[in-house]
Amino acid sequence: MRKFSPDWFRQQFPALHEPNCYLDSAATSLRPQAMIEATQAYYQTGGTVHRSHYSQAKETTERYEACRQQVAALINAADANQIIWTRGSTESINLVADAWLAHQLHPGDEILVSEVEHHANLLPWLMLAEKTGANIVRWPVNAEGELEIEQLALRLTSRTRLVAVTQMSNVTGYVPPMADIIVLAHQAGVAVLVDGAQGIVHQATDVQQWDADFYVFSGHKLYGPTGIGVLYARKDRLDEMRPIQGGGKMISHVDFNGYRLLPAPWCFEPGTPNIAGVIGLASTLDFHQTVDWQAAEAWTLKLADHAAAQLATLPGITLFRAAASPIISFVFRSLHSADLFTLISEHNVALRVGQHCAQPLMQALGVHGTLRASFAAYNTDDDVEKLVKAVTFAYQLLTEEE
Ligand code: PMP
Repeated sequence: MRKFSPDWFRQQFPALHEPNCYLDSAATSLRPQAMIEATQAYYQTGGTVHRSHYSQAKETTERYEACRQQVAALINAADANQIIWTRGSTESINLVADAWLAHQLHPGDEILVSEVEHHANLLPWLMLAEKTGANIVRWPVNAEGELEIEQLALRLTSRTRLVAVTQMSNVTGYVPPMADIIVLAHQAGVAVLVDGAQGIVHQATDVQQWDADFYVFSGHKLYGPTGIGVLYARKDRLDEMRPIQGGGKMISHVDFNGYRLLPAPWCFEPGTPNIAGVIGLASTLDFHQTVDWQAAEAWTLKLADHAAAQLATLPGITLFRAAASPIISFVFRSLHSADLFTLISEHNVALRVGQHCAQPLMQALGVHGTLRASFAAYNTDDDVEKLVKAVTFAYQLLTEEE
């Protein structure tokens, strides 16, 4: 592993070879050259996975399956076969809802969902509740936008079937106390799904140490390809899941009377999968091996700290940022975030504006939407300067006296 060098790291990302102030990594991160080349190389060869025995197809299958081992190592899963490929965090959560929870849920059962959640970790549960007569129980945030363990304890009942909670908020960067949450839920006999979409790239993750029942993440938030995601399930939970889609390469036998399923994870992956996505993810994870992530994260947080400290001096600004967060959301009193966003974008600073697929959290924070700057290890001091300059310019223009 090489010593973390911000310059070297940045050079790996072709999107940054042109001047580009990219502060939207919480939406999707940029891709390293190695990943782009690996994906291209795959498309320049032939062969699918699990179906053919000519050399290219065999090699592709090996690389494809080896990536499960890489993911298992990344999150410390006990077995690579606990890694199911999906399109992303959204599909992984829906798979838990439909393949694991749906067939065990009764009217009046409860699904406990935190108020911090991205819509991807709320809508699947609301839709499932609609179909089954189960109830969604809100675990509210406090005035600081944080989750209190005492409030969880008050809401765990004999009817609770699942706690759905994020590893990191995509709005404020807040990190819930996951170990405590899981211990408490398990004491009540309740499973926990952890949404790792934001957390995976910023935290070392150990699903066994947490004893998480389910963990999900998306390749594209960790410098990998879009369209590929992961569902990790604890062994006993995996055994409780039932396939919800049928198709090729998920059974060992089928005739007109019935079928015999392959074991997990293959029985949950019918059809030709996103091979290029897995190959791309594999090369991204190879790339991860070459980076000192502790140092990369320290660099990212230092930049976010500098940006937050400077933005905080602007009059009328409110920052929504948890301690040590790579994500900074902010609003200005009596100014529309969308107006600011338009002017900031003219400075070629890539931010995001809106509700960030987290409407309940917006309501709890008492805002209609925010601007959001999210940092990654390829950002620089120059990006911080450009951000502060663009925001200051936009603020001044919009508050200027006639
Ligand atoms: N959860 C969180 C916290 C997210 O930030 C996102 C992506 N914005 C998702 C879930 C959904 O991820 P995807 O769109 O890749 O499925």
